[in-house]
Amino acid sequence: MKSEGSGEGGVMVCPRCGKVLRDDYAFCTHCGWDMRSGAVQGGFPPPPGYPYPTYSVPPRRVEPMAMASFICGLVSFFLVPFLPAVAALVLGILGRSRIRENPQLYEGDAYAVVGIILGAVNIFLTVVLVLVVVVSVLSHPGV
Ligand SMILES: [Zn+2]
Repeated sequence: MKSEGSGEGGVMVCPRCGKVLRDDYAFCTHCGWDMRSGAVQGGFPPPPGYPYPTYSVPPRRVEPMAMASFICGLVSFFLVPFLPAVAALVLGILGRSRIRENPQLYEGDAYAVVGIILGAVNIFLTVVLVLVVVVSVLSHPGV
């Protein structure tokens, strides 16, 4: 009863409980969610007999500064050190505070946290590297 040819080790995430499943499963092995019913954006379906809530919740989006912080953090490691790391630190802090103030509008706190961590680590490594170079130059005058 397996779909032919689709199994390249692909995975999907159960929209109800978050369990990672092989993408050829019809039902979640953890909570029994019908994976063929499509993505569920609004969290848990209501219990039987209860109507869906009539208010509509606008979809939250990733806070742009949090995303920028994440990207700057990556750039600081793979392209240009230090300056993007400073930007990642500042943008991450600003982005997180905006997410905290508007949790109904924004998500992406994890991006900001990763951006802050990458930025801080990159700044630290850059400073250490500069110190090492300075010390080695000072201790070997005439090089
Ligand atoms: Zn599940």
